[in-house]
Amino acid sequence: MNIHEFQGKSILKSFGVAIQEGKVVNDASKAESAAKELSVETGTEWFVVKAQIHAGGRGKGSVKETGSRGVVLAKGLDKVEGIVKGILGGTLVTAQTTEAGKKVNQVLIAQDVYYPGDSEPEEYYMSVLLDRQRGRNVIVYSPDGGMDIEDVAEKTPERIFREEIDPAVGVMPFQCRRIAFNLGLSGQAFKEMQKFVKSLYDAFLGCDATMFEINPVLKTSDNRIIAVDSKVSLDGNGLFRHPDYAAMRDKSEEDPTEVEASEAGLSYVKLDGNVGCMVNGAGLAMATMDIIKLSGGDPANFLDVGGTADAARVEKAFRIILKDETVKAILVNIFGGIVRCDRVAQGVVDAYNNIGDINVPIIVRLQGTNAEEAKKLIDDSGLQVHSAVLLQEAAEKVKSVLA
Ligand code: GDP
Ligand code: MN
Repeated sequence: MNIHEFQGKSILKSFGVAIQEGKVVNDASKAESAAKELSVETGTEWFVVKAQIHAGGRGKGSVKETGSRGVVLAKGLDKVEGIVKGILGGTLVTAQTTEAGKKVNQVLIAQDVYYPGDSEPEEYYMSVLLDRQRGRNVIVYSPDGGMDIEDVAEKTPERIFREEIDPAVGVMPFQCRRIAFNLGLSGQAFKEMQKFVKSLYDAFLGCDATMFEINPVLKTSDNRIIAVDSKVSLDGNGLFRHPDYAAMRDKSEEDPTEVEASEAGLSYVKLDGNVGCMVNGAGLAMATMDIIKLSGGDPANFLDVGGTADAARVEKAFRIILKDETVKAILVNIFGGIVRCDRVAQGVVDAYNNIGDINVPIIVRLQGTNAEEAKKLIDDSGLQVHSAVLLQEAAEKVKSVLA
């Protein structure tokens, strides 16, 4: 689950990571008072206003309606409201969003931490993630942080370092020192960086994250090390342990159909193709998508109805697939192990009857427990459903109905 920058920062702070402080608002008329409050806490009357959307690249992105950037410096309390108005409620397009952009429902008013007169603020890059091949968490970092990290990765990959963490002992002091050294730090900043890395890693483990990306990590001119940005992804399977994080979910940032599916207990991921797939089991779903591709089609979605699919869930899945106007054929591929094929068939028939007027061809392959009863149910229903026995055969049928 992805969360907003301000939410990520609040988690980091709770684990002792130093952050750029800020206040979030969803109403421009509250901006100035929020900024005033913040200035009392931080001692500065310069701010930076940051759009809160689930995408990066905001600093270089622009708001369609106003032309404002997604991250803007406000040099004074009286500037804040105007800048907030240029961002809040607008549609922000960045290199990480689609061309349609994302609606900005909240902005973070943060303290300016780049002191005036600081000619060259030191911005570093740091992320924590699982290296699946190594089976270990790794801290990836670079002295060349800031907005162009993708260029660094491409042009000077030797400027990107990795520190692999042994899960038995966690991040060791010598590793924190090595990171601080490779970032070119000395004196007080060197010490601060060690604390930063340690607490960042504690936070990563403690909140059951799958990814942290802090870009930039800033060395201020008085040698403090702070997180200026935060991109945090939490492990959805760990959320039951953190109800407070689960509440950070922002459904407006997610695909509405995917939200509807997850509420019905279906794993659904929208894809770009034209063949809707309804399958039970993630492995079978992958195999089904492969065979659709091999026979020249293109899956419109990944949909796993789960091992305990009943008629109601199958109907729901059907409705979700049919909402997608790009779907030109539907392939139902069910293996009856725990689930009984006749129940699934009943779901298909119910869906057909209840939804009515479905003019997308449907190819059904049901194998396993009660497959014969299932076939009979479908045949007797009078529906225009093509049934198949082998997966290959099903894929061929998909191809022929699309042709
Ligand atoms: P992103 O573009 O979505 O990654 O958003 P960031 O939070 O990383 O902000 C973009 C850029 O704005 C950063 O790389 C900084 O250079 C700049 N920035 C962020 N906070 C401040 C600040 O307090 N003062 C100044 N002057 N610049 C800031
Ligand atoms: Mn950033």
